[in-house]
Amino acid sequence: MCRQDGDNTMKIEIPGLAPITDGDDVIRDALEHAHVPTLMNALIHLTGDRSFLHGDIRPEAGFLTDPQGNISATDQAYVRDQAFQMITACRDSGDPLPPPPDQALVQDMVQFMIGKEVASDYGEFLLSELALDGTDAYASPGMDAVPEATRAEFKVIVIGAGMSGLLAGIRLKEAGIAFEIYERHGDVGGTWQQNTYPGCRVDSPNHTYSYSFKPKDWPQFFSPQAVLKEYFEDCADAYSMREHIRFNTEVVSTTFDDTDQLWHVVTRSPEGEHSSTANGVITAVGQLSRPKWPDLPGRDRFAGVTFHSAEWDHAQDLSGKRVIVIGTGASAFQFAPEVAREAGHLTIFQRTPPWIFHNADYHADVPDGKHWLLQHLPYYAQWYKFASFWRTSEGILSAAKRDPAWNETDRSISEASDQMREMMTASLRSLCPDDELFAKIVPDYPVAGKRILIDNGNWLQALARDNVDLVTEPIREITETGVVTTDGTVIDADVLIYGTGFTASKILSPIAITGRDGTRLDDQWDGDARAYLGITIPNFPNLFCLYGPNTNLVVNGSIIMFSECEVRYVMGCLAMLMDNGAKAIDCRPDVHDRYNEKIDAGNAEMAWGISKAPTWYRNEKGRIAQNWPFSLVEFWQQSRRPNIDDYQLLG
Ligand code: NAP
Repeated sequence: MCRQDGDNTMKIEIPGLAPITDGDDVIRDALEHAHVPTLMNALIHLTGDRSFLHGDIRPEAGFLTDPQGNISATDQAYVRDQAFQMITACRDSGDPLPPPPDQALVQDMVQFMIGKEVASDYGEFLLSELALDGTDAYASPGMDAVPEATRAEFKVIVIGAGMSGLLAGIRLKEAGIAFEIYERHGDVGGTWQQNTYPGCRVDSPNHTYSYSFKPKDWPQFFSPQAVLKEYFEDCADAYSMREHIRFNTEVVSTTFDDTDQLWHVVTRSPEGEHSSTANGVITAVGQLSRPKWPDLPGRDRFAGVTFHSAEWDHAQDLSGKRVIVIGTGASAFQFAPEVAREAGHLTIFQRTPPWIFHNADYHADVPDGKHWLLQHLPYYAQWYKFASFWRTSEGILSAAKRDPAWNETDRSISEASDQMREMMTASLRSLCPDDELFAKIVPDYPVAGKRILIDNGNWLQALARDNVDLVTEPIREITETGVVTTDGTVIDADVLIYGTGFTASKILSPIAITGRDGTRLDDQWDGDARAYLGITIPNFPNLFCLYGPNTNLVVNGSIIMFSECEVRYVMGCLAMLMDNGAKAIDCRPDVHDRYNEKIDAGNAEMAWGISKAPTWYRNEKGRIAQNWPFSLVEFWQQSRRPNIDDYQLLG
């Protein structure tokens, strides 16, 4: 993987990796920006020297408060110095990389990095993600066994050209399966196309938020919406997706015909209604794509300017205006500080305060030195991704889980949950000297009862401004001129902005979906969406959901990784049915029901299942219908390839 060219520079043949040709100063500067636990693992790939794994310098478990795992400054300097010697030696010698680590060593490296023992699944997961032998981590299982001609005769319709729809298209194209994507908007990108409100940016670590096959060296740790939108546009172009997409085309209904065992899909576009057929349908419509307007009395009466965060009216000049924002969820949290800078006066209505995780890098550019490491040092980017993944999702899952021995559930649900609460409360206090404001912003439910929001102080600075009021008195009604609260206070405004979220639990709505024997999905679900692995639904053969029921992540993991697992599984299903000469597969009801019992039991143990705080994770039946309650690696494992015993083969 590492070879020497005539010009004596090291050429490492890892996709996207640049050769190390820079001088000593550049390398020394880059190392100052290293995430040291990541660097230590990357050096094992570079030299084969495993002595770090058994040395005294090691990250501590739960590097929540200190990303460097509490490695002292002196020890960090030592590691950087060692790294400098090793990298420059490799640069100057042009020696090849040593043989790649095996699974046992990767498992040791995982445990070293996170500072504790974990199930061997993690070593397996990382081995796959690192793609040391160039094997695609999310390749379509079983597809090689299906003759090309069979694949070419199979047709799939994908609904939506956002992150998951594009992914499905890319994998279908790679497999040589015919497909079309119907997209109701005029361009690709889904949520990143639709949400253009000021301040919009990804709030999961950006280095975990890209397709496995299309890593990107992001400009910021949490890049702005325009960067994300451009990424998905670039992917659409790079994989020639646009020629497969019908834009401005909304799917109205899709019906499974028991006789020909095909899906009959009806679409609406400016040209009128259109019908087409396909062997399979993949829905990739997102959970957060339809704005939710709150059911507040008088909502239609407001005579001023009003809009929803997902339909931002950029024609409105807010400067000097009196603005009301309803909501303090992830969207309002990002746009309200921007509005505050412009508006004459801003009133924010908060019903439930969010838990806030402080991250100083939230608005920061990735420094040049870090870019250098990500671009040049073999496997640094992959381990950095894992470090971010562990720090922000997998590693904090235990703090969202109930300890049966913990004697309360109102404020915290375990010792780890209590520690998180203490840490976040202390962080809020340090940034908010105002007692009255502090009392309003500290949540009274366990951490992760709702989505944790990331901030660098931007939100609290906005709340502390002279032109901003945070109102916690409930809203009684909306009037022609503004809002009246339950204590009779009247707050007038020129502009009323709803940051009230999305109709997340109405999964796949408003598409009319009819399956076997005329079964209507609306009737089967009855307001309580369920699927097997969030993907397949009994009575709806060859209908596959992406980001379907119970596939949402609460503690900020990457939804892209989940989608990659789902698409891999769907491709495995398609391969399985074609390989078996079937026309369709239908999920067995008992498999589906047993699975959902486990999901419900899992969610009942999690902060979001226990907390009484209102949340979009709960549907109208009171069930947690959005969230995955277990570790990400468990989903990765369970969705690796379909089991034929879980399905009935048709045709
Ligand atoms: P949300 O989290 O559902 O927040 C809606 C807000 O409106 C909440 O504060 C809610 O209060 C409030 N609200 C709703 N109805 C109300 C009523 N009748 N009276 C008063 N307040 C009311 O929606 P969101 O902020 O759009 O975020 C939704 C999800 O989108 C996020 O959880 C996240 O997954 C995703 N998102 C991601 C990003 C990103 O990555 N950059 C950005 C934005 C959104 P309660 O809390 O009391 O319900």
